[in-house]
Order: sequence, then structure tokens, then C-alpha cells
Amino acid sequence: MIKRNKTRKIKIGNVYIGGNSPIAIQSMCNTDTHDVKATVAQIRKLTQAGCEIIRITVPDIQAAQAIGKIKSQISIPLVADIHFSADVAMEAIRQGVDKLRINPGNIGSEEKVVMLVKECQKKKIPIRIGVNAGSLEKDILKKYKGKATAKGMVDSAMRHIKILEKYNFYDIVISMKASDIERTIEAHRLLSKKVNYPMHIGVTEAGTIFRGTIVSSIGLGVLLYDGIGDTLRVSLTADPVEEIRVAWEILKSLGLRKRGIAVTSCPTCGRTEIDLISLTKKVEKKLEGIDKDIRVAVMGCVVNGPGEAQEADLAIIGGKGVGLIMKHGKLLKKVNEKDLLKEFIKEIKEF
Ligand code: SF4
Repeated sequence: MIKRNKTRKIKIGNVYIGGNSPIAIQSMCNTDTHDVKATVAQIRKLTQAGCEIIRITVPDIQAAQAIGKIKSQISIPLVADIHFSADVAMEAIRQGVDKLRINPGNIGSEEKVVMLVKECQKKKIPIRIGVNAGSLEKDILKKYKGKATAKGMVDSAMRHIKILEKYNFYDIVISMKASDIERTIEAHRLLSKKVNYPMHIGVTEAGTIFRGTIVSSIGLGVLLYDGIGDTLRVSLTADPVEEIRVAWEILKSLGLRKRGIAVTSCPTCGRTEIDLISLTKKVEKKLEGIDKDIRVAVMGCVVNGPGEAQEADLAIIGGKGVGLIMKHGKLLKKVNEKDLLKEFIKEIKEF
């Protein structure tokens, strides 16, 4: 059992993160925020895929003004990603945004920080501080001899945290991103010893679906196993829907969340007598939209198949042109290969 860090519980719209709330999955739109129709369409698609918090980039006042229209057409909390401008942030708040991603140390004057913090306090809007190894403050870089170290990332996070705490603002979420796993892990481990604010975890610039999935699974997997992480984003150079799929699989694999049917399958070998690779793909595709908490196994032969089938709720054991359908390890029926998928799906739906 993974023992999660006890962090402060924070409310983002209708979703809680931190404390013992489920680890929330988030993503970021890659549409132009000014294009409300395209942004809403993408958020709806992501919501359907299992996205629980969505972030949009808000580069100017016009984009901030689109927030109200976007929010009225979606059902998940909306986070505005803002760089430097307190005025844009204030407009995002007026428009009903659920969370801001802005670094207080980059806003400019103290007056503006106070104005923004007070408004967030009044409207109960949390602020995410986002530290990126690629854009650490000059003096911090100097302290670590020009290197963006994990310690430097923690110093930067603490600097922004202290600014907010000075004004009694504690609804803080922290993210610290580096493009390599080692620094990302080290920075989170160090910071989680200093503060108990919820952590938004992710490995930035992870890459394409193939590389990004591997890098994110390792990086996030280690952190999650350590009990670190209250919300996560998998960053991929791909359709953001893929980020959601990968994020769910990471959390499901660690037993931290449940969603849909878990499909296990054997790697196939010389003993396999049915077309197991295409059968497994078809089973996975067919089960995508079915939200049942069951475990399914697709196995290529009777050597190891029955063992796996004992642990699965429903299983296919391949034979020569036939398949056995097992339920809780007991034989349910023997079916011709051509009817196997149809019969198996029928059993799953009736389960
Ligand atoms: Fe090979 Fe059978 Fe094991 Fe699949 S279950 S890998 S077919 S021995």
C-alpha cells in the first residue's frame, strides 16, 4: 500500500486536491484560448476521456475575457495559466476562473501582489506556483554556480511561497518541473520535507507518446510511490487526450485510482495458437467506454493461462482456433475463434 503524504486540502471549483482526496488528473488545452468554440470542444473531449481539471493559457486580457464563456459550457474546474500580469489575473478572477497559475514573485510591484492575493482570498481561488528549471531566477542560478539544480528549484518555490504566506494566503499548490527525471524527483523530495502544500507533479517536455509515456511513468511513478503528488499532468507532444489516457494508466497501475476495466494479457510466445495480439487490441478497444471495476485477462494458451484466469474476473484462454472463457477461474464456455470477441464482450456486459 502506498502511503500518501498528508498535504493541505484545497478546493478547485468542484474538485478537492490534497489531504486524502483522490489524485486528480489534469491536462492543458492546446487550442487558442480566444477561440472559445475550439477550446470548449477540446475540454469536453478531455472531460470524456477522464480529465478532472483543465488549464488554459491566458496570454492577454482578451483571452481572460473568454473565460466566462468557456466556463459556462464545461463541467470541470478551469485553471488560468498567466505569466507576469496581475491585470490579466484580475480579469480571469472576474470571469470566474477556479484557480490561477501565476508566480507571485513575477507579478511586479508589491501593491499588485497584495491586490491579487486579497481578491483570491475573497473568492477562495487557489494559486499554483510553478517553478521551471529552465527559468530559475538569476540570483538563485548564481548561488548554484549557474546550474539549475533541484536545490535551486526548491529555493525558488520557497521564495514564491513566502510571498503568499506573508499575506496569510495558504491555498497554494506547487509544481516544480524539469525535463529530466532525476532533478524532478530530487526537487519534490526536498520540498515535501519543508512544506505540506499539495503538489502538482509532472515531467515537462517529456516527448512524444512513446518516450513521454516512459519518462512520465518512471518520474511520476517514483514520486507517487514515495507518497508525493496530489494532482498530475502527463506532458506529451500529442493530442492531450493521450495525456489523460497515460495518466489514468499510471494511477491505475499503482492502485491509486480505479477507472474502467483493467486488461492484462500475456506477451505471446511459440505456444500461442490464436491471434492474441489483434484479439487483445480489439478487447481493449471494445472495453474503453465500459466503467466497471473488473479485471480481465487475455491469455494465449493453457500453460500459463489458467493461472492468470484465477486472478481475473473474466478471462480468455486461447486454444487452436478456439477460446475458453473463464469466470473467476472456472470454465464458462468454449467458443470458436471467430465468435470469441463477441461472446466475451457479452459476458463482460452481463458481469
Ligand atoms: Fe506463451 Fe501461453 Fe504464456 Fe501466453 S500464456 S506467453 S501463450 S505460455
